[in-house]
Amino acid sequence: MTTIHAPASPDPPTSAWTVAAEPLLATGSLEGDRRADVAVVGAGYTGLSAALHLAERGADVIVMDAAEPGWGASGRNGGQVIPGLKDDPDDLERKFGPETGRRMWQISGGAADFVFELIARHKISCQAQQSGWISAAPNASAVGVLRARVDQWRRRGAPVELLDRQRVAELTGTTCYVGGLLDRRAGALQPLAYVRGLARAARQAGVAIHGRSAVTKVESHAGAWRVTTAAGTVTAGKVILATNAYTDDLWPGLRRTVVPVQSYQVATRPLPEGIRRLVLPGGHPVSDIRRILFYFRLDPDGRLLMGGRGPLNDAGDPALFSRLEAVAARFFPQLGAPQWEHRWSGRVALTADHLPHLHEPGPGLLIGLGYNGRGVAMATRMGKLLADRALGASPAELGWPVTSIAPIPLHAWRGPVMTLVLHWKRFQDWLETKQPA
Ligand SMILES: Cc1cc2nc3c(=O)[nH]c(=O)nc-3n(C[C@H](O)[C@H](O)[C@H](O)COP(=O)(O)OP(=O)(O)OC[C@H]3O[C@@H](n4cnc5c(N)ncnc54)[C@H](O)[C@@H]3O)c2cc1C
Repeated sequence: MTTIHAPASPDPPTSAWTVAAEPLLATGSLEGDRRADVAVVGAGYTGLSAALHLAERGADVIVMDAAEPGWGASGRNGGQVIPGLKDDPDDLERKFGPETGRRMWQISGGAADFVFELIARHKISCQAQQSGWISAAPNASAVGVLRARVDQWRRRGAPVELLDRQRVAELTGTTCYVGGLLDRRAGALQPLAYVRGLARAARQAGVAIHGRSAVTKVESHAGAWRVTTAAGTVTAGKVILATNAYTDDLWPGLRRTVVPVQSYQVATRPLPEGIRRLVLPGGHPVSDIRRILFYFRLDPDGRLLMGGRGPLNDAGDPALFSRLEAVAARFFPQLGAPQWEHRWSGRVALTADHLPHLHEPGPGLLIGLGYNGRGVAMATRMGKLLADRALGASPAELGWPVTSIAPIPLHAWRGPVMTLVLHWKRFQDWLETKQPA
């Protein structure tokens, strides 16, 4: 059965971000038959960054989203701006060869700088701070992984350093980690304000944005592409699909190239000043490197946000939120009994090789997706790659592999398979840390 993404509401769920982001700009739905140089499906970081970079170079662009801009992961994430990929630079050079591998770590390693520069250039008000990020190790073998990572990045000139147990505890306010990596290229921002700011910048550059416009068909038509919504069409020379973990059956096989899993977050009320000094006193966002990770930070109003990975369903299981609140209490006993103010979740898109993918299944049809939970920086950067390709950059000039659509085997069984994997990995994490997860 063919399914097209149909959000129950066009607005993102209530979260720590919705209470403070700049208002959404008004976007009417697409009506009538229109023409453009490029039609973009999906108004998150990928689609809006692609649209903005295209419009800045003179292209006429129309963006459509089934909901409002930022409804997807871009408006709900943890706001941790993290450079790099799951693969370290040596792995990339080994897998893709020295030249492509080098370009890939340069592109992904520079992705956080790219975001902060874009924000500065377009004066996007989103509480962005490039003050570093900590990748935390829950046990000694994880410290070994971080040591090798630090070594690889430092050889390539990146401002990355290893932290010992005491320094991690000083910077994070928790004694649950035995070491860490501080990456000074990284930082944090208000994710919903960022995506709405990108939408505003794109519109100022001439992009037409239409919310509440689910695209139901993409077809080749008289030497161009035609994109269809309930009330209109766009005929364009190029089409960009930027639907990531919300990818539906719009393009054959694409949905099966990613496994969408839920990521959950909880947030306290703004913490009292005295406690705020004891929790994450360094002000860094933190993600750990458990197999099923936890990530946390303070937001600019002093809320503690705690996030973690859940299974595939969209149910918003209350037990998973409670588990995160219990983890926060264990990591930060100095919180006492905090008042929890928000619970929300969204989907991240996992790929089989843990890498973001750029596909081109037909001439002028471009797709970027699969950020494996690290898309604040990389989806923005992917948008620029898609724009460059749409404007004629060759794959060699791009520096990122253009791969064919390869559905993941057993995708139809992803529900039970991923639930088993989740429990198995949590058990392994428990064995290594003896901490409940
Ligand atoms: C809870 C959570 C926490 C996260 N934390 C972090 C973090 O701290 N740091 C980090 O780097 N990454 C994080 N991520 C991942 C990051 O948010 C994503 O990788 C990134 O936002 C992906 O952006 P995108 O534009 O590709 O997709 P999205 O923002 O998900 O946008 C896709 C859009 O496509 C639209 N769409 C789908 N199908 C159609 C259709 N047929 N027609 C029209 N529109 C369609 C959807 O409505 C949606 O708006 C997190 C994700 C979640 C869910």
